[in-house]
Amino acid sequence: MSLQIKQIPCLSDNYGYLVHDPLSGETISIDSPDAGAILDALAEEGWTLTQIWNTHHHWDHAGGNAELAQKTGCTICAPKNEHVTIPDANRYIAEGDEVKLGAFTARVLDTPGHTLGHICYVFDEQNIAFVGDTLFSLGCGRVFEGTPEQMWESLAALKTLPGETLIHPAHEYTADNARFALTIEPGNADLQARVAAISALREKNQPTVPMRLDLEKKTNPFLRPDSAAIRAQLKAGAASDSAVFAQIRALKDSF
Ligand code: ZN
Ligand code: FE
Repeated sequence: MSLQIKQIPCLSDNYGYLVHDPLSGETISIDSPDAGAILDALAEEGWTLTQIWNTHHHWDHAGGNAELAQKTGCTICAPKNEHVTIPDANRYIAEGDEVKLGAFTARVLDTPGHTLGHICYVFDEQNIAFVGDTLFSLGCGRVFEGTPEQMWESLAALKTLPGETLIHPAHEYTADNARFALTIEPGNADLQARVAAISALREKNQPTVPMRLDLEKKTNPFLRPDSAAIRAQLKAGAASDSAVFAQIRALKDSF
């Protein structure tokens, strides 16, 4: 049997995710953006929450920890480097650690940049990744605590996952990201086709995520600082990938 994933739109543009293992009966919540919405989703499926896996300390990711732990008795895994800002976890984890959902295993990746302790969770055998606010569909998280160089290294690490990996980000920012992406690489035919598909989904109020990593690599400007077309557009010459990434991130910050 495979994992069951329930996507929960909540707050203004967040996605919570419940991951359920029918064999063990365990259910984890990736982050805790909105305790009420997560409790409703659990009730709807008849699932019992056993763990929360936090990606980072922002309120729209860890703000529901206390209420969910109190109401369900679940345990909490949180980033080791955010033990001060997420003080209520039962276990602190970092790259090299593994977390278990029944017989399924996820690997922890350190992805600093958006926050310094941000981590991602990768189920390698299932090709499923939960990436919090590091990678978005056609975008990436704002660099609040780390440096653009750190954020680029984090995205470069995610880029090495298999192309069929289903990326589960924590926000629905795709339509806005698409408008920006077209200004960075207007001639990218894959991007143009994708933007059309995204508009159609959003018109029906459908989610545009999860998304496959291989399509993201072809269309997301933040994963493409090596693209000749983008370098020409930005007059970036032979700058490093990390410097071109920083330039794209700065443009998006004021878009
Ligand atoms: Zn965040
Ligand atoms: Fe967020």
